[in-house]
Amino acid sequence: MAAPADLRRTVIENCAVATVDAQDTEYASGHIVVAGNRIESVGAGRAPEGLTGVVRRIDATGHLATPGLVNTHHHFYQWITRGLATDHNLFDWLVALYPTWARIDEPMVRAAAQGSLAMMARGGVTTAMDHHYVHPRGAGDLSGAIIGAARDMGVRFTLARGSMDRGEKDGGLPPDFAVETLDDALAATEATIDAHHDTSFDAMTRIAVAPCSPFSVSTELLRQGAELARRRGVRLHTHGSETREEEQFCKELFGMGPTDYFETTGWLGDDVWMAHCVHMNDSDIAAFARTGTGVAHCPSSNARLAAGIARVPDMLAAGVPVGLGVDGTASNESGELHTELRNALLVNRLGAHREKALNARQALRLGTYGGARVLGRAEQIGSLEAGKLADLVLWKMDTLAHASIADPVTALVFGAAAPVTLSLVDGRPVVEENHLTTVDEDAVARATRDEARRLAQIAAGA
Ligand SMILES: [Zn+2]
Repeated sequence: MAAPADLRRTVIENCAVATVDAQDTEYASGHIVVAGNRIESVGAGRAPEGLTGVVRRIDATGHLATPGLVNTHHHFYQWITRGLATDHNLFDWLVALYPTWARIDEPMVRAAAQGSLAMMARGGVTTAMDHHYVHPRGAGDLSGAIIGAARDMGVRFTLARGSMDRGEKDGGLPPDFAVETLDDALAATEATIDAHHDTSFDAMTRIAVAPCSPFSVSTELLRQGAELARRRGVRLHTHGSETREEEQFCKELFGMGPTDYFETTGWLGDDVWMAHCVHMNDSDIAAFARTGTGVAHCPSSNARLAAGIARVPDMLAAGVPVGLGVDGTASNESGELHTELRNALLVNRLGAHREKALNARQALRLGTYGGARVLGRAEQIGSLEAGKLADLVLWKMDTLAHASIADPVTALVFGAAAPVTLSLVDGRPVVEENHLTTVDEDAVARATRDEARRLAQIAAGA
């Protein structure tokens, strides 16, 4: 794709390049030219001669360039409730934490979003998402606070506007004071689409419709939420098939397993992606493949809450779109996506396929192109190809942590988290020399500590 001659260009040379394109093209020493907010060219050897408007030329010797990492499942607000209920399974953990979560307000959510985003961005995430489903009455403009934090950080972002309307009195898990009414949840979700959803190719903000889970929302909210999403042309997101207890809950209440329940409520389709999908039988996986329903695989959270091992190799073999998610940081205190690249590979090898389960390149694909696909953005991001948006990372691979590993993709996935020399989002630097360029990391850390203490005090007094 030819770029206008007046565009400002950044030239990156002398690095290994893993494009994660359809052929998994890699260059042992290659170049990338960024023009404006797009990738203009990627290839072997040095950049073409005679480029005009070059404002920056980077000698990236000792680095690996990859597409920016894409996170497909998170709950930002949990950044200020990390390290609690550490030895619980999902349902017990939820019951322990709901009363605290129900006390969040706008300053807490803003600080938690900044913390979550900063942790991901400094580790090479260029596209983030937040599934935010706790909306206490009078808590303020939580969606606006979260979107503002993502804009300030400079990362591409999907807000999955979540909701819960099945409280304890209706047989659900959340306390009644933590849920919205059906009508309020739908109206607020549509207002968020009106205010923030951007359909353009290079959109920095998109909105999805995201009721929380089968055990915290009514059948009607799932059904009408799906209708709303399709009427407005936005994507659908929820939690599904996370634990055996959820499967049991669905069988008792609805007379069927979660995947069949989702199908009856309009929740299978190529505009849907679901977190976890741990307890899936062959026919569930076939239904996801047939409908193009995507999966956000969250191996660390699934291990933390003893949920089980998702059948990712079987999903990939069936053609199910799969991305990676850190999940909320109350169930994955790390909060960075490299952990998920590594754990996706390691945890799946503990399953039925053993050492054949996943390799390093498949793990990198899950964390980049796979994530772009489940977020509905594969045409724009997720691989390094001419014409795509300039979301990319230069990983420093010549330090103690990785220098003795010959293959850089193996080093990146199997090794420790690599330092990020440069992360570009939409052609703009978000990380330089391992430091965030857009926010003061220490100030964010202090704000998150202060808001975590304030929430703990309010919750203790409640
Ligand atoms: Zn989650």
